[in-house]
Amino acid sequence: MFFLLRKFVNQEEERRLRAKRKRIKRLKLGLLFVCFVILTVVTQVGGIVLLLAYFTYRIFFRDYNRWSLPLIFTVYYTIVSVFVIPQVAPFFGRMQVEDNEAVKAHSFFYKISNRNYVTIDYHETIQSIATDFHAKYPGIQLVYTDANFPFIDGFPLLPHRYHTDGKKIDFDFIYENEEAQLSNLKPTFSGYGFFESPFEGEKNQINFCLNTGYKQYEFTKYVTLGILHPYLTFSEEANKYLIELMDAHDGVETIFIEPHLHERLGIESDKIIYHGCGTVRHDDHIHLESI
Ligand SMILES: [Zn+2]
Repeated sequence: MFFLLRKFVNQEEERRLRAKRKRIKRLKLGLLFVCFVILTVVTQVGGIVLLLAYFTYRIFFRDYNRWSLPLIFTVYYTIVSVFVIPQVAPFFGRMQVEDNEAVKAHSFFYKISNRNYVTIDYHETIQSIATDFHAKYPGIQLVYTDANFPFIDGFPLLPHRYHTDGKKIDFDFIYENEEAQLSNLKPTFSGYGFFESPFEGEKNQINFCLNTGYKQYEFTKYVTLGILHPYLTFSEEANKYLIELMDAHDGVETIFIEPHLHERLGIESDKIIYHGCGTVRHDDHIHLESI
């Protein structure tokens, strides 16, 4: 009787353990799937790299501790993003924006997440505009945020609507510091969300869009990731010169800035068009499109 009871208790315990192990496995696979989606959305290739890291972990490192998988992923991802993609992307018609004395990424994030790829022709256009700008304002660089991913036309670079074909890039505005000197510093951590709002009496497209139901129009105010230099002020002269350079370049097709800035800077250009209420306000950055 005692043995039967003990056997029953053991079986029950084993069944409970098996169910628990199944639940944990399902949870881990769910977490893996969520990470796969997030990494794909943010970096394009990160999800695939995660799968490779996961299979490596399952085959060779299962018995090691729980940090093995993140570690393998980090090593794989760094190798792929830093060494492999920059070599492979040109075969697919895109290359990384090259940082130099005239142009640079807003932060390392835009480079390590592969969001800094453009077509080969567009790269020449960007460098040419940056070099001309730098010639007039030595020491001041064109600073870019999101461009495009390295592969596949039509692959979305969220949250942007149009950055899908290697022919789009966003630039920070040029700012002056407290001494009224041009600076390479930018107001926010992400590069987005610090608005040069309309003055009294200027056309206010922002209010129009918000009041007609386009609540996403000022969505970027939620993605500053911190305001680092709130004292910086928009340089009318330098931004006007920059947009005129963009307008004059044959490689540029379209420029998005908010209508009140277009008016304020007094630039005559067929390339500056209004992007519509369905996107986000463009008085925190310049969106530039290639032909
Ligand atoms: Zn853009």
